Amino acid sequence: IRRLEESVVNRIAAGEVIQRPSSAVKELVENSIDAGASTVSVAVKDGGLKLIQVSDDGHGIRFEDLPILCERHTTSKLSAYEDLQTIKSMGFRGEALASMTYVGHVTVTTITEGQLHGYRVSYRDGVMENDPKPCAAVKGTQVMVENLFYNMAARRKTLQNSNDDYPKIVDFISRFAVHHINVNFSCRKHGANRADVHSASRLDAIRNVYGVSVVRDLMEIEVSDENAVDGIFTMDGFISNANYVAKKTTMILFINDRLVDCTSLKRAIEFVYSAILPQASKPFIYMSINLPREHVDVNIHPTKKEVSLLNQEHIIETIKDAIEEKLMNSNTTRIFQTQTVNSSALAQANTQKEKGTDVSTATGAKSQKIPVSQMVRTDPLDPSGRLHTYWHGQSSNLEKKSDLVSVRNVVRSRRNPKDAGDLSSRHELLTEIDSNLHPGLLDIVKNCTYVGVADEVFALIQHNTRLYLVNVINVSKELMYQQALCRFGNFNAIQLSEPAPLRELLTMALKDDESMRDENDKEKLEIAEVNTEILKENAEMINEYFSIHIDQGGNLTRLPVVLDQYTPDMDRLPEFILTLGNDVTWDVEKECFRTAAAAIGNFYALHPPILPNPSGNGIQLYKKDVDQELLAEAEATWAQREWTIQHVLFPSMRLFLKPPKSMATDGTFVQVASLEKLYKIFERC
Ligand code: ADP
Ligand code: MG
Repeated sequence: IRRLEESVVNRIAAGEVIQRPSSAVKELVENSIDAGASTVSVAVKDGGLKLIQVSDDGHGIRFEDLPILCERHTTSKLSAYEDLQTIKSMGFRGEALASMTYVGHVTVTTITEGQLHGYRVSYRDGVMENDPKPCAAVKGTQVMVENLFYNMAARRKTLQNSNDDYPKIVDFISRFAVHHINVNFSCRKHGANRADVHSASRLDAIRNVYGVSVVRDLMEIEVSDENAVDGIFTMDGFISNANYVAKKTTMILFINDRLVDCTSLKRAIEFVYSAILPQASKPFIYMSINLPREHVDVNIHPTKKEVSLLNQEHIIETIKDAIEEKLMNSNTTRIFQTQTVNSSALAQANTQKEKGTDVSTATGAKSQKIPVSQMVRTDPLDPSGRLHTYWHGQSSNLEKKSDLVSVRNVVRSRRNPKDAGDLSSRHELLTEIDSNLHPGLLDIVKNCTYVGVADEVFALIQHNTRLYLVNVINVSKELMYQQALCRFGNFNAIQLSEPAPLRELLTMALKDDESMRDENDKEKLEIAEVNTEILKENAEMINEYFSIHIDQGGNLTRLPVVLDQYTPDMDRLPEFILTLGNDVTWDVEKECFRTAAAAIGNFYALHPPILPNPSGNGIQLYKKDVDQELLAEAEATWAQREWTIQHVLFPSMRLFLKPPKSMATDGTFVQVASLEKLYKIFERC
């Protein structure tokens, strides 16, 4: 073991802080902002490898400070560790300039207020190369970094081989320009007249940097949460609407004026977009979050690229909800002008209600003056509900799986942004869904807590003080129908492990079909033949719109993903194919979409499995047979179904289902108890 020389240690450390030219630019620009500059100009040569020059009109650097300016751990911004808690400046480690001198040649020209002339001095490996030379200077500081990574051959090579860093640099400056609207930024290639970044007001800045079309599709968003327990937090910014279509997400995030990344927030936002606007699932986001300084730990990443926050989950959840609400409202506004008033009034009612619940759960019920008979102990914001957790202590395995599931969903739903959104008959069908919406049921669906399955068909949910039975088959059928229309033309695909011949599927279905009992086998074969032809004729269309793929040989090879992480019961595939062939109206576009979506809805709905439920009446059947394997399979199937209802169906239902009016009266939602009434009964006892 040998002790490394200090210069080696420093160079290694420097390579970490300054990873590439764009990280040097970021540090230099942050220094300029810390110095109170109102103009920052950046010039770059050869992607920053040859030259980076950042000039500002900030307060400058005092002559006395120049000798130690580029030593490691020299800073004017921090003196005691405790200051970190409240630090306002972006820098605090005193490492950036020093690092640059270990991996490049740094020259600083600076003048402080009231001086007659400035000074210029060059640095290498942390120290001055010569005494500062007096020189003419304009207000502020200019830092020049030349030959970056001249002494790190491998790094230089990879950077030369990889794409030029200039776009990254422009990207950084653009983000700063959007956020710091009272600083004028410019960025250009050395020698070029035209600057690639300029700025003015925030929207102007976005327009200048990202283009007019982006600005046109932005909506302003604002959230503040002044819940005393969690501390104050505010967010404001711009988010793109349904018309913004891009290949990838642009997320400009500032937390307490620091440009940072926050992967979990980005994911959460992308999830909301892909759920609500599958066609515009890659949004443009500019967001500025402000928190009490002591709630942000800025010291978790060497280049300060990430920060950690107190109550991160809560903050993300709040932002996610706000975006969801904004998108939902804007979505309906876009298509159905007449509905706006209604839905926003309802949304308002919802938020008020939510606030009410929040207070009662957060501060304990006793201090609140809510009568016991109206006290709600469950939390609709908890996706899996609370009561259920008490009943099934061991289900934690599955819970973990559901986290993974939601992450994967985001990744998957991202892949397929074809545009098929402008078919008017599909829009008409979507309009029908909206005009048929039952607002009361929508409120129940959005804010309910899942309690558990009640029997083969019904599940129990709680909404405020009421308990409802929900027909799982009906709601899932409707949900799948609506999703089939929403995701229209944009499905991900389920690939069948083996192509399934349509003819065989149809023959199978016809054999099981009660109404076909009287037909003989020859006739059935003919029907199968005709249907196969019909499906083959329409194969291209159903593939494009519904991602049901039939190959040349008349085999089914792909089915659509209607809900992420959900595959339909393949026992029902023959019946589905028969319905497609027989019951879809192929010649009228709108009816065709409606009937095809309905067929999909029926196939994907959560019907009870074909094997009888072993924990219900079905148990006798298994006893007689004493078929252990079958019993095990049945148990697994039913357990899986229960899990899917809780973790896939209900969460998706809250997000997507627009319950039609008919569901209020057809037994889909049935109120079984209300706390107020129960209390009356108990009081009598
Ligand atoms: P840090 O920003 O973490 O303090 P740096 O190495 O980036 O560390 O900078 C060291 C010090 O140099 C800063 O604390 C600041 O006092 C001074 N400095 C750097 N750049 C400028 C600038 N553009 N204008 C004025 N002072 C600067
Ligand atoms: Mg700095």
